[in-house]
Amino acid sequence: MAHELPPLPYPKEALEPHIDAQTMEIHHGKHHAAYVANLNKAIAGKPDLESQTAEALIRNLEAVPADIRTAVRNNGGGHVNHAMFWKLLGPNAGGAPTGKLAEAIQATFGSVEAFKEKFEAAGLARFGSGWAWLVVNQGKLEIVSTANQDNPIMGKAIAGAEGTPILGCDVWEHAYYLKYQNRRGDYLKAFWNVVNWGEVARLYEAARK
Ligand code: MN
Repeated sequence: MAHELPPLPYPKEALEPHIDAQTMEIHHGKHHAAYVANLNKAIAGKPDLESQTAEALIRNLEAVPADIRTAVRNNGGGHVNHAMFWKLLGPNAGGAPTGKLAEAIQATFGSVEAFKEKFEAAGLARFGSGWAWLVVNQGKLEIVSTANQDNPIMGKAIAGAEGTPILGCDVWEHAYYLKYQNRRGDYLKAFWNVVNWGEVARLYEAARK
């Protein structure tokens, strides 16, 4: 069963003015679509890999044959990361986290504002392309960053950034360049206006089980 590009959960213009419609159209329809197509191409004809979810494949990259491991890492990671990212954003979103998630953020980082600053700094410090993440690692919240399309569930492959991601921000230039050009920091600040905290809270609850 081939992997499929999931539809955007809202219209491409829904995140305006913070993330523009053209960026969303290209990001989802071209970049994410290419990760899906290239993942399918990499594992074609290998039923033991074709039968697995993309998450399962990238959790255990050592089990993937060496000649396609990089392709699965990059494109499987790209598929997993973007499928999660679209759901972490939303129209009429932003605001502040609530409930147990808010309590954990305050207890870990001091305040939501301090958390946001630290998360933005992680995104800014990522040289080249990659992601900033809020993860649950051994029951605790941590901010990490990964290169390329690596994901904190990749374990040994991304030593030092392990965890279960509950929030991620794509800091590849393709995520922001049309509107923000070189101003990644402005994009990171705008990101908070479209964060779907309900989804983050749902992932937080699931990660603690
Ligand atoms: Mn992207």
